[in-house]
Amino acid sequence: MIRTRSQEKILNLLKTLKEDISAQDIYIQLRNRNQSMGLATVYRSLEALKLEGMVQVRILANGEAVYNLTQKDEHYLTCLRCGTSIPIPQCPVHNLEQQLEKSHKFNIFYHTLEFFGLCSECQGLQANG
Ligand SMILES: [Zn+2]
Ligand SMILES: [Zn+2]
Repeated sequence: MIRTRSQEKILNLLKTLKEDISAQDIYIQLRNRNQSMGLATVYRSLEALKLEGMVQVRILANGEAVYNLTQKDEHYLTCLRCGTSIPIPQCPVHNLEQQLEKSHKFNIFYHTLEFFGLCSECQGLQANG
């Protein structure tokens, strides 16, 4: 797979980050590292990397799309009130994924599974009005 220099720059940036990051923030981070590229190029490169299975996109409760490298099989409990995302340690659909790959001859790059509700702190706030 031949990658453009812009795609390489984005991959290198994502490798250094732990958190998911929005396209806008990728644009800013690259500029801070003197590796600037236009925002349109950031989006185009992310799209290409996504189709290659290198990068995965996650949509936050506020509708913002955030990106990260694909290898992480992580799932979250996301609080709709304060927006906190708590990673859950195990993947409950790992076996299902392998079954589906076989039964549908489908090459699965990644899956998403998220749980939405209120965190323990926000439940307290809710109860007190
Ligand atoms: Zn909360
Ligand atoms: Zn999983």
